[in-house]
Formats: sequence, structure tokens, C-alpha cells
Amino acid sequence: MDLGSPRDKTKTLTIAIDGPAGAGKSTVAQRVASLLGYLYIDTGAMYRAATWVALEKKVDLQDSETIISLLERALVELKPPDESSQGRVRVFVNGSDVSMIVRSRIISKFVSQIAAIAGVRSLLVEKQQSMAADGGVVMDGRDIGTVVLPDADVKVYLTASTQVRADRRLKELKLMGQIADFEILYKEIDARDQMDYTRAVSPLRKADDAVEINTDQLTIDEVVSSIIALAGHKS
Ligand code: C5P
Repeated sequence: MDLGSPRDKTKTLTIAIDGPAGAGKSTVAQRVASLLGYLYIDTGAMYRAATWVALEKKVDLQDSETIISLLERALVELKPPDESSQGRVRVFVNGSDVSMIVRSRIISKFVSQIAAIAGVRSLLVEKQQSMAADGGVVMDGRDIGTVVLPDADVKVYLTASTQVRADRRLKELKLMGQIADFEILYKEIDARDQMDYTRAVSPLRKADDAVEINTDQLTIDEVVSSIIALAGHKS
């Protein structure tokens, strides 16, 4: 896994940000990383890339063995955003830029199924842990504070009501030129949450030592400032 982005080697904190879909994790994590000169690691993008690999090869999504072996052989790269990626981390699989497709609704629909496969998780968790080994990282996902980086210096659990999250997702999709219906999006987000909360391996949950921030009434800047303040207390 190549992240292609420099990090400030003098900084060693690890910051874990977890929470359900659309709580604002990636926007916030990216800003915190940029302000601190840290590396941002979007673990959702890795599960999305794995889902793209399975769908592109038309593998039966119940066939965990084939999915794992395809993933073992795939080169998944995350690269910093550029003007083509609407502010999101770019995702490459075997050299092809799949940044837009991995954020599409078809991938969102199936990603939780792929993310529930234990072998897929162990492959990706190992990569995530090695990327964070030198510290100076902000990593977001569902199991960062609980499984990937249980000793993270700062742990944040971002939440927001399903209403607010569906609304944000609607705006995000519009920006990408995709048409969507609020009610359908609401149901899709809710269904994805349910799968993420209830899966047997590493379900989404708040780490006991994480600070919970509900973002319903907060601006991005306010959330970012709270996390920077938490990091300030640790450095
Ligand atoms: O963060 P994002 O919405 O892109 O994540 C897509 C999906 O990837 C989640 O719904 C979840 O199923 C899975 N995921 C995960 N563990 C992570 C990050 C994402 O299971 N650390």
C-alpha cells in the first residue's frame, strides 16, 4: 500500500476517528491531518477498493475465499486528493484510478458485506497497522480505536442523526453529479449502519476511552478544533 504523501516525522501521535456512515469523519480527519502535518488514512476507501475488486471480477459475494485471494494479489494504493477527486483521497487498484466509482452507491450498497469477511479485515487491518507504525497519522473508520489502533493517543467517536447524515450524503452525491432520493438514501445509510453494528468481526462501536462528539449542530471547524485540542493535551 502506497500513500504517496509525506508526513512530519517529528510528530508521533496517532489519532483514531470512528463512527457511522456520513458522520463527517473523512472531512474532519483530513483537515486535522493537514493542520497537524500528519498523514490521513481513509480505511473506508480500502474496504471500498476491496468491494470494487470483487464486483469487477463478478465474484459471488458469499465466496470469501476467492475475494480474499483476489485481494491478496491486488495492488491497492491511496493517494492524496487532487482536483479530479473532489477533495477525497484518490484510490487506485492495479494502477487504475477508481476514486469516483468506489464512492458510488453501488459500492456503498455492498461494502458492508465485504467488510464483514474476517479474512478481508485481517488483510486490511495488518496494512493499516503498518501504515500507522511511525505515528503522525489520523486514521478514520469503524474499528480504529477498538481494533486497529487500540493504543491510539486520541480516540474520537463521531456521530450524527441519520436524518443529518442522509442529508449530507445527498449533497455529496449531488456534487459528484449523481441523482439521489433522500428517503432511499436514509434507508441505505440505516441498512449499512445495521450491518456495521451487528457484524461478528470488529463491529462498529465506540471504544471505552473514546470521546464522543455529536456533529448534528456543529460546523466542521468546530469539530476539527475539538480534536486538535484533544491532540494538544497529549503532545
Ligand atoms: O467510511 P466509509 O463509509 O467509506 O466506509 C465504507 C464501509 O467500509 C463501511 O460502511 C464499513 O462497512 C467498512 N469499513 C469497515 N471498517 C473500517 C472502515 C470502513 O468495516 N475501518
